[in-house]
Amino acid sequence: MADAALAIDAYRSLAEDEVQARILAARERLGDRVVILGHHYQRDEVFRHADFSGDSLKLSRQAAASGAEYIVFCGVHFMAEVADILSRPEQTAILPDMAAGCSMADMATLRKVEQAWQELGGVLDPEAAVTPVTYINSSADLKAFCGRHGGIVCTSSNAAQVLEWAWSRREKVLFFPDQHLGRNTALLKLGMHEEDIVVWDFTRPLGGLTPEQVRRARLILWQGFCSVHMMFRPEHIEAFREKHPEGKVISHPECTYEVCARSDYVGSTEYIIRTIAESAPGTRWLVGTELNLVNRLHARHRAEGKQIHFMAPTVCMCSTMFRIDPQHLCWTLENLVEGRPVNVIRVPEATAEQARRALQRMLEVSP
Ligand code: SF4
Repeated sequence: MADAALAIDAYRSLAEDEVQARILAARERLGDRVVILGHHYQRDEVFRHADFSGDSLKLSRQAAASGAEYIVFCGVHFMAEVADILSRPEQTAILPDMAAGCSMADMATLRKVEQAWQELGGVLDPEAAVTPVTYINSSADLKAFCGRHGGIVCTSSNAAQVLEWAWSRREKVLFFPDQHLGRNTALLKLGMHEEDIVVWDFTRPLGGLTPEQVRRARLILWQGFCSVHMMFRPEHIEAFREKHPEGKVISHPECTYEVCARSDYVGSTEYIIRTIAESAPGTRWLVGTELNLVNRLHARHRAEGKQIHFMAPTVCMCSTMFRIDPQHLCWTLENLVEGRPVNVIRVPEATAEQARRALQRMLEVSP
């Protein structure tokens, strides 16, 4: 066993062929002791090593159900936190590059959300009137905040069911960090009206709202967004429809309302994958989600004559996800072979316990 972890520096300049061969060799030596999870937005050179692929919640559940001692999460920070929270105590969650964060998750911090909660308290009693709902793309301490305050977690697949649950308990919802998932779900899936929704600008006192606006609102949306999904524009859809009137448009609910309202289908990554897989051969699709996934769909369905187009004319991929490269994966695995886990994600137990409560509520609402 090595005394200290192998340093990442020695891996940075490794050639692609060598890295790939060393990843396979390390995996072989680790056998069932390790499970590698690959989020749909990962680049191919990493994704090909995944034992399981999927969205963040699906992956965490699969990892917890596996007997593996080490869960190597090729995704971003909050995903590895969820894996740690849902896994058994003897399992260790690992993120190959600690710099792989999520810019959307970072837009809502515990300090800012607690401040908002306190400011809401100047207008109404939030414990009686407001259910906090956090998108799974958020830090563990925000999930814990929801656990403490009668709130819940949602994903892009179950946001509608979760919001209905939240409103059945209290008259208002504070939804963070992604305003677009909240708005699209409320307007497109639940038939809510614009006048029931306000946006909380977390840089201004009382979110930039008047007490009257807060009192009237049923849905208070945190002003967060995903910079990747914000790149898609209504004019991209219009140009596609003009050229391919028979084509279908499918978008992720992190896109703006203007994009989602013009799309034929709106849903999570799992929904996008399934809808395209089940479509008739020869169909044409314009897809509004991350580039690596769209490229993979294009390659997967080419033989069936399906034409898959990326929605934006520019390259837009999740740059933080992109930080997980084969070099970091190799480094992580070779350290595990040496018995030196690196980049371990461990959520403090008190936080994990409260976050688990909010996750558990979600799993009861949407098993
Ligand atoms: S695609 Fe957007 S929401 Fe998803 S991890 Fe990247 S920055 Fe976060």
